[in-house]
Amino acid sequence: MKFLDRLKRFNWKTSPAHLFFLSRFIHPHTLNDFMKDDGWETVLKEPPKKALDRFLDEGLIRPSGLHGKLDHEFKLPALKTLLKDRTLKVSGKKEDLIERLIELDAPGMEKLVKGQLVFECTERGLERSKSYLDEEKKKKTAVEMQVFQALQNHEFDKACQIANSYHKQEVFSSEIGCDSTFIKSIFVVKPKILKKFNDHQLNALRIVAGMMQLLYCRKASDWLPSGFNLDSHLKAESAARMLIFHCYYLKNLNGLKGSGFKKAKIFVVEDSCEHCKKLKDKTYAINKVPELPFEECTCEMGCRCLLSADSNSG
Ligand SMILES: [Zn+2]
Repeated sequence: MKFLDRLKRFNWKTSPAHLFFLSRFIHPHTLNDFMKDDGWETVLKEPPKKALDRFLDEGLIRPSGLHGKLDHEFKLPALKTLLKDRTLKVSGKKEDLIERLIELDAPGMEKLVKGQLVFECTERGLERSKSYLDEEKKKKTAVEMQVFQALQNHEFDKACQIANSYHKQEVFSSEIGCDSTFIKSIFVVKPKILKKFNDHQLNALRIVAGMMQLLYCRKASDWLPSGFNLDSHLKAESAARMLIFHCYYLKNLNGLKGSGFKKAKIFVVEDSCEHCKKLKDKTYAINKVPELPFEECTCEMGCRCLLSADSNSG
């Protein structure tokens, strides 16, 4: 009965979690890499070891040889040190460096990774992984286009619904739902830090901000009209992020007011610009808190100041 239950729960050959897990072995990995918390066990619905054994049985992954073990164990700088110690050339790609080390000192290299159990995809595993990743990429691209269009049409509920159902089916699905009130606010606000931008520029940035917030898109240029130029110390990504920060600030400020706080402080990051630093360690009456992101900020990545409750008030 237990066995049947498990069969009903998933078919590992088509389970997205298993295919995603398999694709991790495009690069050499140990089982330990997936045991840091119980995240993988939760999504696989079985211990990672069990899934790994299935892949081994099916010939989708194999134990790595010396090359794979060294690839897993050492990052580029460490490989360069190993080469330098042996007065060998340190130039080239990672795989070249590994080959050079094996060629000259295979026994020494064996010793460095002795007893390590590393695994990697076989040709068949690689094929399977790549077709899975291609399909996922296609799916994501289609969702991005739909959300982009919805944002352009100011259909905020629709944009959030599409994004939410996409996140729900992800292997590691994010619990945080996208909230259309928040997305709507991105399209309304006019933070002072962006005051020199015209409506055309602001609207383009709002769409970028929506894409960032809903689908974690990082590259602004994917969603900007060609030839878009801000002529500012802020890059488009940073400017779009300022819209998001401002909405969080407004939400946060309203929350503090609603909870009866009379005073607030601003948390300033260590490497912020001089203008932002002026806000540090000051306490403000809740109605006189400077607007964030800070209007005068000259930080290249934009203002990263945060509003926080003053623990002595409220
Ligand atoms: Zn600043």
